Amino acid sequence: MITSSRMNGVAPYVPGEQPKDRDYIKLNANENPYPPCKNVIKAVRKFVQKYPQKLALYPDPDSNELHKEIANLLNKTGGVLCRSVINKNEVSPSPEDKIPFTVTQDMIYTGNGSDEVLSMVFYAFFDSSKKFVMPEFTYSFYPVYAGYYDIPMDKVPLKSDWSLDKDEMLRRAKENKGGIIFANPNAPTGIGLTREEVRQMLDCASKDEIFIVDEAYVDFGGESCIPLLKDYKNLVIVRTFSKSLCGAGQRLGYIVSSPELVKIVTTVKNCVNHFPIDALAQVSGTEACKNPAYYAECARKVYSEREKFYNFLKEKGFYVLKSQSNFLFAKKEGLDGYELYTKIKEQGILIRHFKTPGIEDFVRITIGTPQQMKELKQAFENVLK
Ligand SMILES: *Cc1c(COP(=O)(O)O)cnc(C)c1O
Repeated sequence: MITSSRMNGVAPYVPGEQPKDRDYIKLNANENPYPPCKNVIKAVRKFVQKYPQKLALYPDPDSNELHKEIANLLNKTGGVLCRSVINKNEVSPSPEDKIPFTVTQDMIYTGNGSDEVLSMVFYAFFDSSKKFVMPEFTYSFYPVYAGYYDIPMDKVPLKSDWSLDKDEMLRRAKENKGGIIFANPNAPTGIGLTREEVRQMLDCASKDEIFIVDEAYVDFGGESCIPLLKDYKNLVIVRTFSKSLCGAGQRLGYIVSSPELVKIVTTVKNCVNHFPIDALAQVSGTEACKNPAYYAECARKVYSEREKFYNFLKEKGFYVLKSQSNFLFAKKEGLDGYELYTKIKEQGILIRHFKTPGIEDFVRITIGTPQQMKELKQAFENVLK
């Protein structure tokens, strides 16, 4: 065999399809339907035109500007764009979301998309001798890392209403002593836990074991756990520019945690690549953070379209989970999930279907612009006729 024995167990993640045969309306990968803020485009253009030689040099290895602006953004929004208060171009946190301390630059670590960030986090905090706890249905990349790093996992079934079974997750975490991870709001359900619920979990969990919350979707109406960082030194929060900051193409993800844990993840990263964030992503990411009002507006538009489409699906007799994210997870009695996906695709719109047993009846629908959702509604009407 030419390959290492490690390769035997490696099974990569399968992302939402990105077909090129036709111009589909893409509602299958939870990308943001809105473009980045105009100031981001301007900043990138200026960077390329004014400092082209910078592309020939290594970027700032510490991403100082970017980390400073991410921290600023979190302080200004309370970590939830959708719920922040917009006043002209200024944004402030809603009173419930206000962070009771100042997030500082040394609490931020960035990487090439939160997928890469998560891989570093898995390596840094989970152990191949202990099972870590995760929900049975959650971001399907977690099991891939587990296989890749040879970390045993303990999958906890969701409750019958598709929410997380907090008690059972805690019970198993106590037994395994190997840490815990979940997405909040969860994927592909869209259901979130409140900050108080997470606080109760943290209170019960061991302080010596890692507790990871993936907040990829929190800006669309969930509750961020950033305020809890003050009290829990074992908490790591993972976030991304791909959903709420209209930046999936930039590949930018980050963690917010204590400076000590940030240093540990940075050490792991430096063993793999000393310069993971390229110069252009640093420029575009920094500028995105300086324009929270624009992104808060985008998040609000997505929120409002989500609620409308939720009502539409309900009217059509679908079983729809109450989502706090930028997608809906729905199924209809007597309607095959894969068939529904196929019939929508034939009409030029991509939604997501998972073959995973247990959720194969569902489709996951990313929320698009009002125009895209109008077309999707029509496509659903055609299928249901
Ligand atoms: C989309 C998503 C990510 C990955 O985001 P990238 O930053 O694009 O790598 C991570 N976690 C969850 C739960 C996601 O849905």
